[in-house]
Amino acid sequence: MTAGNGSTASSFDVVVVGAGFAGLYALHRLRGMGLSVRVFEDGGGVGGTWYWNRYPGARCDTESLQYSYQFSEELQQDWHWSERYATQPEIERYLNHVADRFDLRRDIKLNTRVDSLVFDEAAGRWTVGTSEGGTTSAAFCVMATGCLSSPMTPKIEGLESFAGPTYHTARWPHEKVDFTGQRVGVLGTGSSAMQAVPLIAEEAAHLTVFQRTANYAVPAWNGPLDAGYLQWFKANYAENRRRAKRLVSGFLCYYNPQSALEVSQEERDREYEKRWREGGIGYLGAFSDITTNDDANRTAADFVHRKIRSIVKDPALAELLIPNSVIGCKRLCVHAGYYATFNRDNVTLVDMKSNPIERITPNGVIVAGREYRFDSLVLATGFDAMTGALNKIDIRGRGGDRLRDKWADGPRAHLGLVTAGFPNLFIVAGPGSPSVLTNMVPTIEQNVDFIAGCIAHTRAQGFDAVEPAVAAEDAWVAFNDEVAHGTLRYGCSSWYLGSNVPGKKRVFMPFVGGLPAYIQRCEEIVRAGYEGFIFSRARRGNTR
Ligand code: NAP
Repeated sequence: MTAGNGSTASSFDVVVVGAGFAGLYALHRLRGMGLSVRVFEDGGGVGGTWYWNRYPGARCDTESLQYSYQFSEELQQDWHWSERYATQPEIERYLNHVADRFDLRRDIKLNTRVDSLVFDEAAGRWTVGTSEGGTTSAAFCVMATGCLSSPMTPKIEGLESFAGPTYHTARWPHEKVDFTGQRVGVLGTGSSAMQAVPLIAEEAAHLTVFQRTANYAVPAWNGPLDAGYLQWFKANYAENRRRAKRLVSGFLCYYNPQSALEVSQEERDREYEKRWREGGIGYLGAFSDITTNDDANRTAADFVHRKIRSIVKDPALAELLIPNSVIGCKRLCVHAGYYATFNRDNVTLVDMKSNPIERITPNGVIVAGREYRFDSLVLATGFDAMTGALNKIDIRGRGGDRLRDKWADGPRAHLGLVTAGFPNLFIVAGPGSPSVLTNMVPTIEQNVDFIAGCIAHTRAQGFDAVEPAVAAEDAWVAFNDEVAHGTLRYGCSSWYLGSNVPGKKRVFMPFVGGLPAYIQRCEEIVRAGYEGFIFSRARRGNTR
């Protein structure tokens, strides 16, 4: 049996791990270069994040017209997004459409988890071990494993003893979960919880939300896409995409160049009010120094505090829902009726700031000596972000060295894409790339295009292997750390820093310098003949 290019079915030019936005585009792009490609996907369908996160209310917080591929003009013209922010089912349908439209399924193996990746130095190839039991050989591996794909289940005494069903938002069942008439507990108040809580509250007899840290959220004001706007956007898609790439976040938004501190309070509030009414994470673009200056940040935070007080009728409850941290330090949430949900008679907030959960019993949760009883428990407790999915795989590079050991003191990857000692291993949206701080889809496309170019260059020069020089990697990691320290990002506990995972080294993982600076650096490196990359021949060990 042969695959593309005449390779045997268990030997490919490239193995891609994951079939979400990144894996699907990597397959399409690399196959288009004439390479034989095999994608392994743990899930029972394509979609990645949008396959697993099926909880009530799950939808994207980036506008649908922009949170979509741009590699095919026909695709972006043909596909019809129905709402400003797409729901999980709509994005999953879109990704299934992409898989069919570009005939991707024939090279994707679903329900197959990659457990190990071992680099054979003599052969200059990776041996890929999967849950199927067999091994596959590949010259190159592309890790399209996702930034937020390794769910965190907290270690709380008694969790296993809970008698009712327990659901994690990131592993939600495919069939509808009906909470009608039930008492439900939700643990966590991040983006996932904020989307799920209003809908669960409408269905359940009673909902108890357990909050350890209050979180900032701005409204989405979601709704059907305006026909005129849709028409304009599609007529100018290419130009809109170009403009978006010149903005730090990679999505269209007006970034006000003024400081929040150089205008009067009235002017500031007018700008915040305008952004609040527009909805979405563009709120943080209201002034240039919100994420870098404490005083400026406080003005943006105070405005949200006032909004929460105006929405939540019980003043004491409002105070519990008001975060006391830097706004934008944790990921800013986008919600639809989250704060107003706490005005309902069937919703209770349990503040755990000073009283963590003591234990979970068969009937519910004990906090501060009191048992809260319910029928179902929802864990909206987040992810081991950016490194979790990679570290779950036993990845061994040169000399048998393990990636998880190399990264024990924080991830190290040049441009977030490649890591020294692990030749021919590429990471899409890896730690050190802009990824989660930007519109993920264009960033993924840029990463995949870079990887495709690097593989093409390696082969065209007659080399078998490519990896970054340690000095180039060290310089990039140090640069990212320096840029991150110039922001307010270290001012809270967040998954960006890994501080939600017990024992994880506290390092700011995504590249915080913005998409244009990142693209510029990638382009400079390519123009300089892949400066900072080492190319070699496997058997002869010939390097340059
Ligand atoms: P998250 O933001 O990490 O929130 C997890 C929540 O669980 C936090 O409130 C956390 O409290 C709490 N928690 C965790 N362990 C706990 C424990 N042992 N005891 C008590 N509370 C505990 O996770 P998420 O809500 O799943 O969101 C993760 C990211 O996914 C988002 O930031 C966003 O980037 C992405 N996402 C996006 C969308 C969207 O596009 N709209 C939707 C969902 C998710 P602490 O804050 O105190 O740690």
